Amino acid sequence: MTEFNYYQPTEIRFGPGRLNEVGETVAGYGKNCLLVTGSNIPSLEPMFTQLLSSLREADVTVVHFDGVIPNPTTNTIKDGAMMAKTNNVDVVLGVGGGSSMDSAKAIAVEASHDGSAWDYLFYKNTQPTEKTLPIITVSTTSGTGSQVTQVAVITNSQKRDKSAIYHPNVYPRISIVDPELMISVPPKITAATGFDVFCHAFESMLHPAASLYTDLMAKEAITLVFCHLKVAMEKPTDIVSRSALAWADTLAGLCIANAGVTLPHGIGMAIGGMYPHVMHGETLALNYPAFTRFTYEDAVSQFSFLGRILNGTLGNDPDEKAAENACDELDNFLQRIEMWYGLSDFDIPEDELDDLAEQSLVLPDYKNNPKIPTLDETKALLLSCVSR
Ligand code: NAD
Repeated sequence: MTEFNYYQPTEIRFGPGRLNEVGETVAGYGKNCLLVTGSNIPSLEPMFTQLLSSLREADVTVVHFDGVIPNPTTNTIKDGAMMAKTNNVDVVLGVGGGSSMDSAKAIAVEASHDGSAWDYLFYKNTQPTEKTLPIITVSTTSGTGSQVTQVAVITNSQKRDKSAIYHPNVYPRISIVDPELMISVPPKITAATGFDVFCHAFESMLHPAASLYTDLMAKEAITLVFCHLKVAMEKPTDIVSRSALAWADTLAGLCIANAGVTLPHGIGMAIGGMYPHVMHGETLALNYPAFTRFTYEDAVSQFSFLGRILNGTLGNDPDEKAAENACDELDNFLQRIEMWYGLSDFDIPEDELDDLAEQSLVLPDYKNNPKIPTLDETKALLLSCVSR
């Protein structure tokens, strides 16, 4: 047994119907709450009615910031933080996918500190202190794991740079994970967010900080995604599959909070920063076929696990063969969930690939890949992602 540390301060309240507890949950941190969401989604209307009624019953006053956009920007955070400060809120409640939960975290930082949230990114000298407003989340996608991470991803549109606050003070205090809230997620977003779950789990297994604990959770999360993602796309109201994916999402979030992500996320963050019309999960699907082939020989144990989970007939084959086959098997999975994309499908210009390659090596994620690419290798990798 090797040594490892494991830390997780977020209280997880998991299960169908748990949204009812949101009022009492928030009231534990104050009576004046900033609710952070995207703009109105008609299919989520009943959820909001229930949410507001639970908050009202707990005597919580709500100020609603509904300006979150997918891949939230520093401007989004500025507007939300201004609202939080003007109304002197005690607690920030993020309700939605990763974009809303991360916005809530970044707003909680900006509203309680000098400067902007961008000044508190993981590599800056100033870091979020204990003055950070308490954060509660209610997740409505099964994707980012943000409900259990110390990460808030934000984009600086002027710089075309997507980066992150990464600090224990932005862990949510309590997260409600209610799979009933996910039945309204359309198939395309179910696929993109579900693939993100797989990526978190698999990349955590490749990360130098992987442990027995994170591997255990990662393997379970991967198995759940492969069993349930296609079902949830085809039968969105299937609560068994939605619950399995919400659990996989939470497990994979716990993995990245304690290990981390690798090369595909570094590339994905660069794509998301430069081309914010691409969903986070799509940025990963775009580069996975190239990443698997670049990496599998340097991580035979993890890739052979992947190959055998996706294709049981590889059971008795040598690990090296199962690892190599994992690349084709994952391609097949991407095709089954209709995420077989090339950069050209998103109008990403080929003459910007050099810039994209450089940007892919800005975050340290690539350094945690079992095989660390050079800039030229990253360019070649991206070039192979242009069309499928
Ligand atoms: P998202 O939050 O951007 O949501 C995608 C779309 O789904 C939005 O249009 C949203 O309105 C809609 N939506 C959300 N819930 C819905 C529901 N129940 N029914 C119908 N529509 C619904 O997508 P996401 O993938 O959850 O989050 C992406 C963001 O999270 C990115 O910025 C990404 O970089 C970040 N991220 C954060 C972490 C972390 O640890 N903090 C990890 C990975 C990614």
